[in-house]
Parts: sequence; structure tokens; C-alpha cells
Amino acid sequence: MQDALTAIRRAAPRKVVVFTGAGVSADSGIPTFRGAGGLWRSFRAEDLATPEAFARDPKLVLEWYEWRRGLVRAAEPNAAHRAIARLEDALVVTQNVDGLHRRAGSRDVVELHGNIFRTRRVGDYERPDVVWFGEMLPEGALERAAEAIREADLLLVIGTSGVVYPAAGLVPLHRGLSIEINPEPSTACQFSIAARAAEATPPVVDAILESRHD
Ligand code: NAD
Repeated sequence: MQDALTAIRRAAPRKVVVFTGAGVSADSGIPTFRGAGGLWRSFRAEDLATPEAFARDPKLVLEWYEWRRGLVRAAEPNAAHRAIARLEDALVVTQNVDGLHRRAGSRDVVELHGNIFRTRRVGDYERPDVVWFGEMLPEGALERAAEAIREADLLLVIGTSGVVYPAAGLVPLHRGLSIEINPEPSTACQFSIAARAAEATPPVVDAILESRHD
């Protein structure tokens, strides 16, 4: 942690991109797909969040989304979401579909995988407006994220396992200072802080804001 904070103070980054995955919302009580609590009834998320699962059993998939919406409605943004929102000029690129970054006050958010509170019509059903495994990302979202990440002075990667493509391909695009926050660091960032998002994000954001006043 100390080395990462020193590097931030030295770099005094202006252009910051924050790239988040399910782990940033874990501290709000929303389960990740792969970790503990990732199962719903006896189903794995990877077997429900697919076009094939929806074609096979739409009611089951819709019930699962209703359960997930309930979890998100009952949850609050945590200290990590709130700290990120203090970086008013940062771009937030998230793989999450829970809308917690906007609820915390972040204004510029690219939702690479959509949002579970929106729906769109397919055949006889309204389906959640999210990206399922094997589907394309919303037009322009990946391009905007890639361009911002290439140009950023600092890339903060929080709570993502880096295994879900094409989003996982974004981190290697960045050449400058990069810092990961994850109890189990998994991406190739320059600095890794092995800690929970809600614990480590606020001091990192403090260091960024303070570096601009030095
Ligand atoms: P993922 O692949 O992004 O993995 C979760 C990561 O979070 C892991 O690396 C884990 O070590 C880390 N993590 C766990 N607790 C943490 C904490 N307290 N602080 C920081 N990091 C922590 O996510 P996934 O769950 O495998 O999901 C795959 C896809 O589904 C992604 O698109 C993901 O964003 C989406 N998803 C979204 C939500 C949501 O919107 N809240 C929830 C589940 C899954």
C-alpha cells in the first residue's frame, strides 16, 4: 500500500480511469459470481447468464434477475464507491450491472455489461438489458473505455478477476501507472494492494486528490 501511495504522490495523476468488477460491490453485500455466495439455489451464475439459458428456461433466468435486483435495491454503495465518486473528473469503467457507482455520485460511468434495472423486449419476454456470456458489448462502450485507458495517467483496477473477455483485455492497454485493489490480485498492474475495496480505495483516492494540491 505505502509504495502505491508514494507512486501516486510522485505522479500527481490528472487523467484517472477506475476499472471495476463485481468485487467492488462485494462490500455492499452483493455476491460475486465466482466467490463465496455465488450460487443461487443450486445454479452457477455462468449457467444462468447466457442466451442459451434464457432460451431454455426464461422464467428461471428472470426469477434469478428478480432476486438479484432485490439484493441491489437493499444494498447501499460502500466506502469504495463513495471514494471513487470523489474523483469527479475520473472515468469509471465498470463490468457491474448494479448501478451502484451512479448511486454513489459518479457522473461519468461506462457500463460495459449493461444494467439490471433496464429491460428490453425479445420475442414474448422482457429481458434484462445486460450482456450475457457470449454476447456483444454495447456499441461504443468498449471503444470509449479503451481510448480513455490508453490515455490515462493512472489506471485503478478494483475487484475484477480479469477473466471475463473482452473487458479483461482493457488492462494491458495501459502503459503508465496502474494499481490493483483486490484481496486476491489477478491482473498485471504495477502495484497490487491485497485488500478489500472498501478498505483500500479511500486512502488511494485521498492520495490522488492530495497529490494535485502539492
Ligand atoms: P469478477 O470476475 O470481476 O471477479 C470478482 C473479483 O472480485 C475477484 O477477483 C475477487 O478476488 C474480487 N473480490 C472479492 N471480494 C472483494 C472485495 N471485497 N474487494 C475487492 N475485490 C474483491 O466477477 P464475477 O463475480 O466472476 O463476475 C463476472 C461478471 O459478472 C462480471 O461482468 C461482473 O461484473 C458481473 N457481475 C456483476 C455483479 C454486480 O453488478 N454487482 C455481481 C456479480 C457479477
